[in-house]
Amino acid sequence: MTTEIFETFEELGLNEDILKAVLEMGFTKPSPIQAQGIPAVMQGSDVIGQAQTGTGKTAAFGIPVLERIDTSNNAVQALILCPTRELAVQVSEELGRLAKYMRGVRIEAIYGGDSIDRQIRSLKKGVHIVVGTPGRVMDHMERKTLKFNEVRMMVLDEADEMLDMGFREDIESILADMPEDRQTILFSATMSKPIMSITKRFLNDPVLIKVVRNELTNQNIEQVYFEVKPQAKVEVMTRLIDMHHIKSLLVFCNTKRKVDEIVEDLQLRGYASEGIHGDLRQQQRSNVMSKFKAGVTTILVATDVAARGIDVSGLDGVINYDIPMDEEYYVHRIGRTGRAGMSGKAFSLVARDEKYRLKSIEGYTKVKIEKGVIPSFEDIVGVRKARFVETISTSIKESSDQELYNDVLEMLHHSGFTTEQIVGAMAKQIMGVQKNEYADSNLAWEERRNDRREGGNERFGRGERREGGSRFEKGGDRRDGGSRFGGDRSTDRYAPRGERGADRGERRQSAPEAGMTRLFLSLGRKDHIMPKDIVGAIAGEANIPGKTIGAIDIYDKFTFVDVPERDARAVLRAMDGNTIKGKPVQIDIAK
Ligand code: AMP
Repeated sequence: MTTEIFETFEELGLNEDILKAVLEMGFTKPSPIQAQGIPAVMQGSDVIGQAQTGTGKTAAFGIPVLERIDTSNNAVQALILCPTRELAVQVSEELGRLAKYMRGVRIEAIYGGDSIDRQIRSLKKGVHIVVGTPGRVMDHMERKTLKFNEVRMMVLDEADEMLDMGFREDIESILADMPEDRQTILFSATMSKPIMSITKRFLNDPVLIKVVRNELTNQNIEQVYFEVKPQAKVEVMTRLIDMHHIKSLLVFCNTKRKVDEIVEDLQLRGYASEGIHGDLRQQQRSNVMSKFKAGVTTILVATDVAARGIDVSGLDGVINYDIPMDEEYYVHRIGRTGRAGMSGKAFSLVARDEKYRLKSIEGYTKVKIEKGVIPSFEDIVGVRKARFVETISTSIKESSDQELYNDVLEMLHHSGFTTEQIVGAMAKQIMGVQKNEYADSNLAWEERRNDRREGGNERFGRGERREGGSRFEKGGDRRDGGSRFGGDRSTDRYAPRGERGADRGERRQSAPEAGMTRLFLSLGRKDHIMPKDIVGAIAGEANIPGKTIGAIDIYDKFTFVDVPERDARAVLRAMDGNTIKGKPVQIDIAK
C-alpha cells in the first residue's frame, strides 16, 4: 500500500463527477480516514478501519464503492451492512449525495419495518448498491429477491455494534454467501475479540487503518470537570444546562440502568429528555432519534455503545455523567460536540472515586481538563431572571393581541394584591426555579467552592459569568411558556373537524379533547406539509374518515395531530415508516 499522504481530494484521483459532488458537499480536504482509506480501498485491498461516526468514514468507503460501480450492469455490485435502519438510511443518503453527478447509479436502503413488497418492487428494477440491516438482507436472500453473485465489494459498517445487537450469525451467513473474490471492508470503533475473529475468517490480508485519536486535535471543545457528590449529579447537570443555555445535549453514562434513572430524574424536573440504549427496539430508537433531531427532546442520555451508531453532530454540549472506564470512550464522547468549526462544551461530573480515571484520561489525551465551579442557586435564579425579562419584553413588543389580557392585572388588583406581588408570583411560576433539597454547600465533594479567587485557572467563576450577560440575550427559556419544544415555537394551528384551515392564533390546548389521542409526526412546515396532506395520508392509509381527525398543529420540524382514541393504534400501524408527500415519517403518541 502507498504511504503517500493525500492533502486534497484531487490528489486521490477521483472521477470528475464524484469530485464535483464532494466539493459541493463542502468537504475541502480528506479527513484522515479518507486520506488513508480511499487509496487502500481503490487499490483493491481488504481494509479494516478503526473509526467511528464523525470521522468521515462513510465517504471513506462510499467514494471507492461508487468508483467501482458499472452502471451498464443491472446487478447488485456492492452490499453495505449497517446495524440500524437509521444508519442504513443515513449511509444511503450520503451515497446519494456523493453520486449526485453520476448517471444511473441506483442505491437502495433495505431495512426492517419498511414494506418488504415495496423493497421487492424496487429491487426488481435493478439496484447497484444495497445498504441494509442484516436481518432484512437475510430475509431477501431467503426469498431470493436479492442476489449477490455479482457483488464485488462488501462493507460492514459499525461491525462491533452489529455484533452487540446479536447479528453475528446473520453476518456470517451473508458473508459466506458472497462471491469469494469480492473485496471486504470492515469498520468498527473497537477491535474486540469477536471482531478480530470475523476479520480473520472473512478478510484477506487486510490493511489496518486506525484514526480514533484524531478527534483529540479538536480545539473547539472546552473541557471542564466538576467535583460532584454522586447523588447530586443530576442537580449539577441541570444547573450547568441552565447556566450555559445548552439546547442540544448528549449525556453519557456507563450503564443502561443509569440511562433510565437519569432520564426519569430529568423529566421529573421538566427537562425534555429521552434515553437510548441497547435494550430499545429499533422502532423506539428511531422515534427517540427523530424527536431529538426535531428538537422536541433537547437532551439525549446514552450509553457509549448505543451512542455510536447515531448521527448527531453540532451539539451544544456533552456531559459525562460518569467518567468512562476506557480513555478512548472519553475521546469519542466529547467528539460529539464542537464539530465543523463550532465550539462545544464537554463537562465531566467527577465523583471522588472517579478522580483517578479523569487523571488517566488527561494522561492519555495530553490535554489538561480544567476544574469548574458549580453554579450556585443564586446564579441560576439570576440567569433565569435575565431570560425572563428578555422574553417578557419581546412578548410585549411583538405580540399583537396583548390587550386581550390587559384586564388580568385589574382582576388581581381587585383581589387585593399589589402589582409587585402579582409580577413576582408570575415570574416564579414561569421561571420554574424551585429550591430543592440541594443546598449549594451539598453538591461538591471537596469544600473548595469558597476558594474561587485562589483557584486562578478555574473556569466559570462568578466574575466571568456576570460579564457574559449577552449570552442570555436570546429569549425562549425552556420553561417560558412552552419553549421546551426546542425553541420551535411558532405553529400553524388548525381548528378541528370542519373548521380546519385558519390559524386562529390560539395557543395549543394542553391536552387533546376527550376521546382523542394526540400523535407526534416527525414532519413539519419545513417539509412543506399542509393539513390536507396529513388528513389525506392518515385517512387514506389508516382507512378512517378524514372528518374524524381533530386539531393539527404544524411546527417547523414536527406536527401534532389529534385522532380518535379508538383509531390511534391503526394510525400508528399504518403510518409509521410510511411517507407523506414522499417524505418518510416517524409517528408516535405525543408525550
Ligand atoms: P461520518 O463519519 O461518515 O458519519 O461523517 C460525519 C460527517 O462529516 C458527515 O456529515 C459527513 O458529511 C461529514 N464529512 C465527511 N467527510 C468530510 C470531509 N472530508 N470534510 C468535511 N466534512 C466531512
